[in-house]
Amino acid sequence: MMKRTCFFLLLLLVPSLLSSQSAGENGEFRILRDRMLKEQIIARGIRDRRVIEAMEKVPRHLFVPGHYQGSAYSDGPLPIGEGQTISQPYIVAFMTEALDLKSEDRVLEIGTGSGYQAAVLAEIVKDVYSIEVIPTLARRARKMLARLGYENISIKIGDGYKGWPEAAPFDAVIVTCAPEDIPQPLVDQLKDGGRMVIPVGKAWAVQKLLRAVKSNGRLTTTEEMPVRFVPMIERTE
Ligand code: SAH
Repeated sequence: MMKRTCFFLLLLLVPSLLSSQSAGENGEFRILRDRMLKEQIIARGIRDRRVIEAMEKVPRHLFVPGHYQGSAYSDGPLPIGEGQTISQPYIVAFMTEALDLKSEDRVLEIGTGSGYQAAVLAEIVKDVYSIEVIPTLARRARKMLARLGYENISIKIGDGYKGWPEAAPFDAVIVTCAPEDIPQPLVDQLKDGGRMVIPVGKAWAVQKLLRAVKSNGRLTTTEEMPVRFVPMIERTE
């Protein structure tokens, strides 16, 4: 009799043990995420509440390969496969803040990668359009973003240099791979008054992160900081 009671007790306990374990895991990631926000984002001067709240929400650990999940909230970029990387959290925050976003905005991203930056943008604005040149990455990002319930992100496989003319004009453009110069199609697809954030420079060298504002058809750029992004893969035609 005693044996049987223990068995039933165990049966009752197992599901609750399992669920508390996964809740514990999510809790751990939440603690790491809050620490990342405090130590890497807020302490370094990011003030835009919407950026901070978006990064509080998006589970960054789900955008990195399983064996890197434990490092997902550390202060640096991480490999995501195909020789590409997810940017350092602070860089994501800085670039997002620099776009000066409004909730009604439509934003174009070049370089979907893991889809993390797209998710952060989608928490803030109405529509996100993102272009990725490597099909496997684009498909993986699409899947994760769908799993997390994002319905305001469209991902296209293709050459981001050319932008997305069918969806233009955009209120903001963010480029997360580095071309040698600002691609003219991206300038053309930016609204007047629109903002662009883009790393510019040679492949595998230190590049300049530029913030640009378009007015009367022309860009006024300011140099923000030295950065290192993966190169914009050259267009083939
Ligand atoms: N924003 C991403 C990180 C991007 S890494 C994230 O949040 O994870 C840069 C990405 O740009 C890589 O995935 C790379 O494949 C892509 N890329 C490089 N050249 C490109 C091009 N010409 N058009 C579109 N994407 C490009």
